[in-house]
Amino acid sequence: MKNSIITSNPYNQKELKTYNYHTDNELKIILDNAQNTFENWKTKEIKERTNLLQNLANTLEDKKEIYAKLMTEEMGKPISQSIAEIEKCVWLCDFYITNAEDFLADSIIETDAKESFISYDPLGVVLAVMPWNYPFWQVMRFAVPSLTAGNVGLLKHASNVTSTALAIQDLFEEAGYPKGCFQTLLVNHDQIEDIIENDIVKAVTLTGSEPAGRSIAAVAGKNLKKTVLELGGNNACVVFDDANLDKHIDTMVKARMQNTGQSCIAAKRFIVSEKIYDQFLSRFKDEVSKLNSGNPEDSDTFIGVMAREDLAEELEQQVNKSTDLGAKIILGNKRNKAYYEPTIITDVTEDMPVFKEETFGPVAAVIKAKDNEQAIKLAANSIFGLGTMIFTENTDNIYNFIGDIPDGALFINDMVKSDPRLPFGGTKASGYGRELSKEGILEFVNKKTVYIK
Ligand code: NDP
Repeated sequence: MKNSIITSNPYNQKELKTYNYHTDNELKIILDNAQNTFENWKTKEIKERTNLLQNLANTLEDKKEIYAKLMTEEMGKPISQSIAEIEKCVWLCDFYITNAEDFLADSIIETDAKESFISYDPLGVVLAVMPWNYPFWQVMRFAVPSLTAGNVGLLKHASNVTSTALAIQDLFEEAGYPKGCFQTLLVNHDQIEDIIENDIVKAVTLTGSEPAGRSIAAVAGKNLKKTVLELGGNNACVVFDDANLDKHIDTMVKARMQNTGQSCIAAKRFIVSEKIYDQFLSRFKDEVSKLNSGNPEDSDTFIGVMAREDLAEELEQQVNKSTDLGAKIILGNKRNKAYYEPTIITDVTEDMPVFKEETFGPVAAVIKAKDNEQAIKLAANSIFGLGTMIFTENTDNIYNFIGDIPDGALFINDMVKSDPRLPFGGTKASGYGRELSKEGILEFVNKKTVYIK
């Protein structure tokens, strides 16, 4: 196990910074600090906490360019998309500023008692293990509602985005949150196990891969601690034979290619009804060919580099194993270090890696279905269950298919996306629990029954 973290820019391979892992003693101080802060933080009125949320939103807005540049440097996200990510975090703050008091108000239930209700009490110190693909959004999506509910947060971020992780702690402190409300840990995987086992930590949330989820949930389960898991996805983009391609082809391209394809909710399998297949493929290929690859720091770049070279290599292997099984490349499939050219692969069947596994990069697998019904069956054939999108002009007919999609989300005529107003989460190997909306803020609370006779 290494004893430090070295970050580097995946676009030019330049080393950025070296960070030492926290020592056991430093960790003890951080954990005690979190617990002590919680004792006071939990007594605050929700209004006091939403006032701080307003400062947080203002600071994000003021320092948008700085935060965006950090992400772009550390994980290669095109700068315009980094800026959009910070703006989305501001929207998230605004949503909970408006709604948190209502979501957390006691819920009165009539019984034979004089008064009975549910009180939503914070749990305490919550550990968040987070990934590099949306380095601000994934963290804020946890922290904003959870801290507003009265919890305090510890962040173990992906090691390749350590500067961003430290900037997020500074952001909370600059916005006026008590020190100890949100702390970033510089730790390796072994240290995480001890932290989860520590009595101070009451719950864990993880966004990341399925193996990471299994490993963290196993330790948490052994210690009877609550977990929320947002894991991978293999979302289908189903194109029915009556889909309006003029209107939606841009959305379909964006659904796969934004963030250079590194999104859990991206469209990974394009399942297209036979009648519209040729038309779809030609339009889709035209649009993907036009995407501008380049330096992530240039404002007109849409495809940057992948976050790490090993991730690009892994993607290349998934594609090559699929072509060995008979799939055909009709666009792209060239790699240069962490850069992977936007790729379209056709003649994909259910036994191929690009169908069965999550492809976390700019590769679109296209599958021909004999009709709409078969397309739905293929879409549901996945170990993952994050979301499905269907494009069709007959939205009345969709109600017949809702029950056939066993995922956390179903989007019609739009890409699956996260929205602070709507619950976000998966089923099956995509994990469990929900983030965002009222559901998200109630994940890390003790729903306490109070009964007064
Ligand atoms: P990981 O799931 O390994 O990393 C995500 C986070 O989990 C990081 O903070 C990582 O820390 C941490 N982590 C992983 N394993 C452990 C462990 N055993 N104990 C403690 N912490 C752990 O993702 P990768 O970066 O390796 O990406 C691999 C694949 O995961 C991608 O190709 C994609 O399929 C999927 N993924 C899904 C994401 C999503 O949004 N659902 C996001 C990112 C990846 P560290 O960086 O120190 O290893």
